[in-house]
Amino acid sequence: MSSKIKALFIDRDGTIIKEKPGVYLCDPKKVELYKNTKAAFKLFKELGYTIFIVSNQSGIGRGYFTEREVKAVHKKLIALLKPYEVKEIVFCPHAPSQNCSCRKPAPAMGLKLIKKYNVDKDNSFVIGDKKSDIDFASNLNMRAVMVLTANGKKQQKKYAKDLKNVKICLDLLGAAKYIKKLQRGF
Ligand SMILES: [Mg+2]
Ligand SMILES: [Zn+2]
Repeated sequence: MSSKIKALFIDRDGTIIKEKPGVYLCDPKKVELYKNTKAAFKLFKELGYTIFIVSNQSGIGRGYFTEREVKAVHKKLIALLKPYEVKEIVFCPHAPSQNCSCRKPAPAMGLKLIKKYNVDKDNSFVIGDKKSDIDFASNLNMRAVMVLTANGKKQQKKYAKDLKNVKICLDLLGAAKYIKKLQRGF
């Protein structure tokens, strides 16, 4: 019998790496972690979480860059995160106008990972800087933590009513500390 794993589905842009508004990142040289990202990953590892990155990359569907360029960015990201590991990076390549079933907040990318890795949803979290990440968690019936890096602050204002019951942290390390605190409660 295979046992279930506890996992984190973490957004990429604006949560793990820096995002500049309106800039679609496709150059590996421009990949930059937030200063607390590795400290967060260290804590996640200590807490026993398996990390997945779940990202909307509509720049592909919009014709701004290719899937190959996205993969080069991910190769760089994996290198920067060393010695911490990411189990798998999944992304939706479609533009919103393509009405696909995988763009967050649609749950398809999460459902696929849950099935493939036997993820224990009740002990797992989604973390991101946009309301679409929070809705992605709701659509998966999972808990979410919102971070205020990149889009977070604006999104928090714009969707104040919808987000009033959502746990909000300054950054990914804040989210890690919150999750640690919850674990201690068990
Ligand atoms: Mg984001
Ligand atoms: Zn898609």
